[in-house]
Amino acid sequence: MNPGVDDLKAAFPIFASAPRPFHYLDNAATSQICRPALEALLRFEGQERANVKRGVYRLADAATRAYEQARSRIAAYIGASKPREIVFTSGATLALNMAAHLLEPRLGRGDHILVSVAEHHSNLVPWQMAAERRGARLTALAVDREGRIRIAELERHLTARTRIVALTHISNVTGLITDLRPVAEAAHRVGAVLVVDGAQGPPHGPLLVRELGCDLYAFSAHKMFAATGAGVLWIREELLDELPPFLGGGEMVARVTIPQTRYAEAPRRFEAGTPPIGPILALGAAAEWLMGLDWTVIRGRERALLDKLLHELSRLSGVRLVGPCESEGRVGIVAFVVDGVHPHDVCQMLDQLGLCLRGGHHCAQPLMDAFGVEATVRASLAPYNDEEDIDALVEGLRWTIRRLR
Ligand code: PMP
Repeated sequence: MNPGVDDLKAAFPIFASAPRPFHYLDNAATSQICRPALEALLRFEGQERANVKRGVYRLADAATRAYEQARSRIAAYIGASKPREIVFTSGATLALNMAAHLLEPRLGRGDHILVSVAEHHSNLVPWQMAAERRGARLTALAVDREGRIRIAELERHLTARTRIVALTHISNVTGLITDLRPVAEAAHRVGAVLVVDGAQGPPHGPLLVRELGCDLYAFSAHKMFAATGAGVLWIREELLDELPPFLGGGEMVARVTIPQTRYAEAPRRFEAGTPPIGPILALGAAAEWLMGLDWTVIRGRERALLDKLLHELSRLSGVRLVGPCESEGRVGIVAFVVDGVHPHDVCQMLDQLGLCLRGGHHCAQPLMDAFGVEATVRASLAPYNDEEDIDALVEGLRWTIRRLR
């Protein structure tokens, strides 16, 4: 029997303690921590704390084994072929910056990086910086009116000079899922690597990263029901030993002398210094717990809630959806505007009713430009959301519109 998919709120401590009403719909920004992750974090910090990879005493050895077990659990959750493909970071942002630094030596003057207009700034700015440092060129795939990346235009952008293609797996604004397979094939045909911003991927269930066809995949623990402060850069094994390290320091070395250093094997080579051990153990615990859930049921429910939300929003006068009106090919993330009311004001009004939603540009200003808006309100779902949350949001919007327009 899978653990209580019918009452998932019970597995998230915040729902027992938050003042009522409480409708948390900002999961694309950060999701709530599940009990197994919180317990793993508290156990480590309160009872089992020692540094990893160094000590020979039992406490330190146990911490190192727990750390490597977390690596294996996360590898299983995302379908990595080996735990060593998992490199721990402090989050998706560091993982993507690390990817840019690891791949930078491949860029020469006049080489090309391809991104898309739908990228989060974390998967755009590091590539702009790398392009500037190396004198490379950066172009972006456009999006259609609903925010879909125009994959059909790929061939027009790719050239023999394209070294890196960096795309989002799932948009944090529209929830649209990128069809990565054809992108990977086309990128590999011209000898480029495909880096994927997976920040919004693993929170929506286990995946098979190798089947996506990409070469590097970045995500954060705090969006995956674990603690803040940890993240992952998955690197395809075939690339692992080719890439140079990014940060230098303790624990990433095999032998150091004054003139030079021989680096440790991957993944240690990419993990200089003390990692965020507690949050990584929490992420391992979250991955293990999530693996035990029935994702067919959870995905079906998310789809039904998304359909209901889209239907209700499209019937509200004064509300305009930004992005597709249907639930096909996306997860439960919906952006919208209320005509004549700034998204921040909408969110402040909703907050008075216990509704937590994000208003702003969602760190995706080029996408906002493509939509012709400065900002939107965004509702984003997690497995613990239910019909009551959607009803409260729709009622809250009616109230807001009556008061503010
Ligand atoms: N990419 C996407 C698509 C995101 O939604 C986010 C978080 N908003 C990030 C990257 C950055 O994640 P983090 O802030 O956890 O590093």
